[in-house]
Amino acid sequence: MEPLLRDTYAEINLDNIAYNMQKIKEIVGSKVAIAAVVKADAYGHGAVEIAPTIMDNGGDYLAVATLTEALELRNHYSDYNIFIMGYTPDEYLEYVVKNNITQTVFSLRQAEILSELGKKYNKLPKVQVKYDTGFNRLGYRDCKESIDEIDRIFDLRVEVEGIFSHFALTGKEEDDIQYKKLMNAVKQLEARGRKFKYRHICDSISAIDYPLYRLDMIRPGAIIYGLKSYKDDSVVLKQALTFKTKIYHIKTLEKGEGVSYDYLWKAEKKSVVGTLPFGYADGYPRNMRDSGYVTIHGKKAPIIGVICMDQCMVDLTGIPEAKVGDEAVIYGDGTGNTADINEISKLAGTNKNEVVCRITRRTPRVYIKDDKIFKVLNYLL
Ligand SMILES: *Cc1c(COP(=O)(O)O)cnc(C)c1O
Repeated sequence: MEPLLRDTYAEINLDNIAYNMQKIKEIVGSKVAIAAVVKADAYGHGAVEIAPTIMDNGGDYLAVATLTEALELRNHYSDYNIFIMGYTPDEYLEYVVKNNITQTVFSLRQAEILSELGKKYNKLPKVQVKYDTGFNRLGYRDCKESIDEIDRIFDLRVEVEGIFSHFALTGKEEDDIQYKKLMNAVKQLEARGRKFKYRHICDSISAIDYPLYRLDMIRPGAIIYGLKSYKDDSVVLKQALTFKTKIYHIKTLEKGEGVSYDYLWKAEKKSVVGTLPFGYADGYPRNMRDSGYVTIHGKKAPIIGVICMDQCMVDLTGIPEAKVGDEAVIYGDGTGNTADINEISKLAGTNKNEVVCRITRRTPRVYIKDDKIFKVLNYLL
């Protein structure tokens, strides 16, 4: 086992990821394919490390946002299906073809370039058509000219594997309109004899809350990691990531002494202050100065003073048993007085996905499998 070399680390429970994948598969059934979203280094969980757990437990595709994310996975896994949901600039499409990656397209130009590259390298490039049903981010606009153009893609030397869209999740009524636009486009293309293996529109929230819209494939991200934003409370998943550190310095302050930049926190009475080796450069939201806490011996220790890039201070006055070297939980699963990722996101005024994908390279990842440490990953070494 590699040494940890740092007291601040993210623990990733592979058993929980396996559980969540199995649960998702069970909920959507065997007819719905799962394109597991592992962009942003699998939301901070480590895409390369968790990919086998995902694919061994019901994943059909690994979905990413960028070409570099796709290539990182392809460099490690020659056989997994990999799908780029975002745009790849024309001059880089060659990498897509050479590496058997499925590319999103929303113009004839992209499809023609892929087709030419397919001839050059003797491959049949796979594409999925992005159809914009209202999000107004990427995709063909919803109109007859688009249908005509998508129709022409089928005559090129590419395999049109799917067509997909993305919900704005504005509300049931607006989401319904988006779904209908996608289905209407599919219907028009099918009337011209064009068939799609995968029609899809659901991310995590919609895959759980809109059973009727799952079609042939879903694209869950957050729920694989056990992050719940969907409404259905009967679906219980397991958060996979906990963020931990250790106390590395303790001192007693006299009344009136300040802590950290600008002395924004001052001791109102004699206080015990601990220093912890994590800061905003590890991905902890700096704006949690007044609201954040860590959990030590099952008790909440409030963060005090400005959170620095690499360190922060906590008030240990109420935890007299705390000593140097003791564990502090930065995010837990909500039990034992720990803040879970949902609570952190609320305190930081952001969403759960942003909280986890902020965790940086300098934080080692410790993988747990069968309740034991399976691997220590230090990105910097
Ligand atoms: C990120 C992303 C997803 C996954 O989103 P979650 O909310 O994490 O499930 C699905 N589809 C597309 C196109 C995405 O960009």
